[in-house]
Amino acid sequence: MSLNYDLHSHSCISDGVLSPAQLLARAAERGVDVLALTDHDDTSGLDEARQAAQALGVRLVNGVEISVSWEAQTLHVVGLGIDPQAPELAAGLAQLRLGRRERAERIAAQLARFGIPDSLEGAWRHAGNPELIGRMHFARYLVEIGACKDVQAVFRRYLSKDKPGYVSHRWAGLADAIGWIRASGGRAVLAHPGRYRVGSERMLGLLHEFRDAGGEGIEVVSSSHTPDQYARFARFARDVGLLSSRGSDFHSPEETYRDLGRLPSLPALCVPVWHDWEAV
Ligand code: AMP
Ligand code: MN
Ligand code: MN
Ligand code: MN
Repeated sequence: MSLNYDLHSHSCISDGVLSPAQLLARAAERGVDVLALTDHDDTSGLDEARQAAQALGVRLVNGVEISVSWEAQTLHVVGLGIDPQAPELAAGLAQLRLGRRERAERIAAQLARFGIPDSLEGAWRHAGNPELIGRMHFARYLVEIGACKDVQAVFRRYLSKDKPGYVSHRWAGLADAIGWIRASGGRAVLAHPGRYRVGSERMLGLLHEFRDAGGEGIEVVSSSHTPDQYARFARFARDVGLLSSRGSDFHSPEETYRDLGRLPSLPALCVPVWHDWEAV
């Protein structure tokens, strides 16, 4: 019998809304056998997640989703099977969290210019981790004050590139992020490649660069992808020699379009990123 792998999810340690224990309980209810908790730039939810996973009989994969700047794009690189104590990884993530604080001040200043005062304090009130702030916390605050009806609308109107509350930011380098993941014993997987605005030729260049820097897989089945993109990225993975992953990118029961574990299987031509993991 094949297992239900969901290798991309968020808790309130980054920009999800459930605690790590609540997330694991939901994963168990939804029939997930193997869950990776992959909070943005922070691993401090993994201890609570592991305790809950053991009690529930779900297998937990230690994960993280690292923010990367590559050319003019922001990319996300998921690390699977990492050691959160590994010093290079821990130091790199701590730097990213500091950068997030500084970026949040610039976002708040921009929003103030567009008539929305005090959003830094408002956003922090929505953060479940005093070390990590992101755009989603601003989005929830803007919904709270009635500026928009839901977080998608906030991103459309304020927080996406070229909108009033968007500020550019320098994240980790691609090779650095992959290096931290590998040095911690993990496997680097390019998250939701279908979200990046790059044509086929540059996508091939990105995937080769990712692989040559030590990246091992890409997300093929993701809530960010259409069925056509499952097929497209399955072929990319095969052609470039990358493993394939599957993940819901679950953030919240209300805001997320795909629930935990509720995605199609990987296309048959894929080699799963879990192909050599020991039997559960
Ligand atoms: P940040 O890493 O702080 O820049 O925030 C990125 C996060 O914002 C993503 O991981 C998503 O959770 C969320 N996000 C980005 N774009 C959108 C969107 N269009 N609609 C809803 N959430 C989004
Ligand atoms: Mn997020
Ligand atoms: Mn992402
Ligand atoms: Mn994510």
